[in-house]
Amino acid sequence: MSDCIFCRIVNGELPAEKLYEDEHVIAFRDINPVAAFHALVIPRKHIATLNDFTAEENALAGHLLRATANLAREQGLADEGYRVVINCNEYGGQVVYHVHAHVLGGQRLTGAHG
Ligand code: 5GP
Ligand code: ZN
Repeated sequence: MSDCIFCRIVNGELPAEKLYEDEHVIAFRDINPVAAFHALVIPRKHIATLNDFTAEENALAGHLLRATANLAREQGLADEGYRVVINCNEYGGQVVYHVHAHVLGGQRLTGAHG
């Protein structure tokens, strides 16, 4: 998937300000932050949308979610709170079709759903 910008970040072909990485996921700052803290957590594996996780990827899905919480904790956001958002497909506002969790924080966020 060399036409996928997040695969290119995974492969090191595009730069990103990485905050965390392990065997399965990478976290990096969003290039266009909409909150005081705004990072994206993605699987290394190309999975297009939240709809595309299979049962075989249950462990990966869980790992991705845990990695978002660990990142928030490491960034000092855990106690005050933060928001995790996964946009899915057109109506959800998804622009990059490599599934990613937005981690938003560092400020009081308005609106229940962003
Ligand atoms: P979506 O709307 O698909 O949920 O969000 C895509 C996000 O990816 C946007 O917040 C956008 O700013 C971010 N983004 C798009 N291209 C790049 C990039 O090349 N590098 C980084 N770090 N973020 C990007
Ligand atoms: Zn990809």
